[in-house]
Amino acid sequence: MARRKKIYEGKAKILYEGPEPGTIVQYFKDDATAFNAEKKDVIDGKGVLNNRLSEFFMNGLAQIGVPTHFIRRLNMREQLVRSCEIVPLEVIVRNYAAGSMSKRLGIAEGTQLPRPIVEYCYKDDALGDPLVTEEHIAAFGWASQQDMEDILSLALRVNDFMSGVMLAVGIRLVDFKIEIGRVYDGDYQRLIIADEISPDSCRLWDIETGQKLDKDVFRRDLGNLTDAYSEVARRLGVLPKSNVTKPTLIN
Ligand code: 5GP
Repeated sequence: MARRKKIYEGKAKILYEGPEPGTIVQYFKDDATAFNAEKKDVIDGKGVLNNRLSEFFMNGLAQIGVPTHFIRRLNMREQLVRSCEIVPLEVIVRNYAAGSMSKRLGIAEGTQLPRPIVEYCYKDDALGDPLVTEEHIAAFGWASQQDMEDILSLALRVNDFMSGVMLAVGIRLVDFKIEIGRVYDGDYQRLIIADEISPDSCRLWDIETGQKLDKDVFRRDLGNLTDAYSEVARRLGVLPKSNVTKPTLIN
């Protein structure tokens, strides 16, 4: 069998050349990293869960007219996505104070914010993805003024969608990070949601108990990460309703 061409290997995913031009195969690894890869582990089953959960969220977004890179899931660990140029920003939306915002501004974790707050970080591992302002983004040409308006609107739509989906299963969407891709249709460029949306890139707290069901379980040594992600998947109906700790494929 011919070997596929690897395009890029990141901390949690590998990208391979797709079967048709303009497509990419996104492979979800079991590797977990935190604090800019200072903390690392391999978490059995994480990649399978994130592949499924990202498919679920991206499909839902497409259904409400939010464009994403997702085409279809290929197997347990891989999905076919549209190739795009990644805008070098991490777009973070926060509904409740937590993580770096709590540290930076001295606001207690869990404090509800007066409105969703959108932050931008420059995607650069060597620099630890520093927080930047729209002034930096415009001055360094990372995105145009029009792009920034579109990114803000996409980010808030994703927030409304994800908050509602999570609320329906008793989970609070505290914050999340998305990445944005640029695609060209003839002479026109469009922005779409790229990368992944999964408990790796969101903070998800049980509404009743406050239990963390996201990557903070790994970052802060709070228990078993696949149990937490399986619970999210189970509540969303992405995995069978039985008590699943190891991910099981359903068709
Ligand atoms: P914070 O800035 O508080 O560390 O993160 C805010 C939100 O963005 C959290 O949900 C966190 O998981 C997500 N996030 C921030 N940076 C990254 C990153 O480099 N990778 C991933 N997967 N998520 C991130």
